[in-house]
Amino acid sequence: MALNIKELKQEGFEQVFFAQDSAAGLSAIIAIHNTQLGPACGGIRMLPYASQQDALYDVLRLAKGMSYKSALAGINFGGGKSVILGDPKSKSKSLFHAFGDFVETFKGRYIAAKDMNIDSPDLALVKEKTRHVLGVEGEPGTSGDPSPVTALGVFRALEATVEFLHGTKKIDGIRVAVQGIGHVGYALAALIKKAGGEVWVTDTNKSVIEKAQNELGAKFIPLEEIYDLDVDIFSPCARGAILNKLTIPKLKVKAVVGAANNQLETPEDGIRLHQKGILYAPDYAVNSGGIINIFVESQGYEESKALKKTDEIYLTIKEVLNRSKARNQPTFKVADELAEERLYGQK
Ligand code: NAD
Repeated sequence: MALNIKELKQEGFEQVFFAQDSAAGLSAIIAIHNTQLGPACGGIRMLPYASQQDALYDVLRLAKGMSYKSALAGINFGGGKSVILGDPKSKSKSLFHAFGDFVETFKGRYIAAKDMNIDSPDLALVKEKTRHVLGVEGEPGTSGDPSPVTALGVFRALEATVEFLHGTKKIDGIRVAVQGIGHVGYALAALIKKAGGEVWVTDTNKSVIEKAQNELGAKFIPLEEIYDLDVDIFSPCARGAILNKLTIPKLKVKAVVGAANNQLETPEDGIRLHQKGILYAPDYAVNSGGIINIFVESQGYEESKALKKTDEIYLTIKEVLNRSKARNQPTFKVADELAEERLYGQK
């Protein structure tokens, strides 16, 4: 193996390493933020970053995010992440084998999983070189597609938010606008309908809209009009940064509860929502069903265990909302505080 590894020391991170294997076409960074609670687990992201600096910024931000997500979800995983610098079109067996060798050098302190532009066959190639890989779909004993579990977690977060607003967690009659009805959004819309809620949907893909209209009786709303819709809950399930200085002034909802990662464009947007009196269920608390599912796989996968642990998102969101009200603090700050208490102990 012609793997060239060098350490990139970063304050606040346990280990950050850059690896290169020119023959295999690999340039990658693995960042371990914190292993206080367990091995650092996080996905592999492959992107044609403009520079190594951009890749480093991304992997550090994501690795820290994983520490907080797992801590708040109450699972014994630390936070880590990896990035492969390159065009996803240039994937090859030798690239993922070299990456697997890189993961193996951490001797289990980092566990790789899927993230942007990485599919199960890629992950299976990584697994040929290291056993520290989770979430390869289709193999016996693995946890499979995490989306239904993630959707259940979002639904539990929705129940907690509705209970906070109305004193009962009944979804009957609650009106929800779902932005993006892909893997998670569609399953969530189905759960809401089943519980008696009303669903509006938007998506860039017309065929899924038709499916949601026909199968779920969902109502269609054009892409940009979703922010102005006068309903109870806005559920972003497509992409990040959709809560910002342009969209927040339009919102008429009482709460935002969705699966998308990094919904707040900036921390100021979390403050804006708080000042406007819109309850924001913090994204990383809401969408932790996926990492819970992977954690259960690491213990010997049983779907019932994954669903039971995911049900606890209801309690976490209730705690976040109650503490936010009691301290008059934005919910995203409260969630960070709760995660830090588990990571570093009470201050
Ligand atoms: P997906 O790709 O299956 O679905 C996303 C949907 O959003 C697609 O149908 C797409 O057409 C649509 N979309 C894209 N841009 C849009 C736009 N501008 N407006 C409206 N719709 C748009 O992805 P997913 O697995 O359902 O994940 C949804 C979000 O939840 C992502 O942000 C993802 O990072 C996050 N998330 C997913 C999981 C999981 O288990 N899948 C876990 C945690 C977080």
